[in-house]
Amino acid sequence: MLVKRGEGDFSRIYRPCRISEVVGNERVKKIIANAFETKKIPHTYSEPELLKDILERILKGRKFRLECGHHVSFGSNLGNDITVINGKVFKIICSLCGH
Ligand SMILES: [Zn+2]
Repeated sequence: MLVKRGEGDFSRIYRPCRISEVVGNERVKKIIANAFETKKIPHTYSEPELLKDILERILKGRKFRLECGHHVSFGSNLGNDITVINGKVFKIICSLCGH
């Protein structure tokens, strides 16, 4: 759950400060906490559950205009699917424009 702190724009006051604010999965929390304690980053790819958990916690219930001009409402059954074109700078468009 995101926690409101201080004042400023949305991204500043809702910036997560604790692992529990970004990750809900207990196993993933332990992996991240261990990485901070040992100062060693695991040399494996994280499980898809971590990505799903991060995206759900940050995006669920939020609405955005995409770079293609369409819109997405996260967590809505009728919301558009999106395509993230990876690179140094992400390009995020709806999946219909991504084909
Ligand atoms: Zn589109």
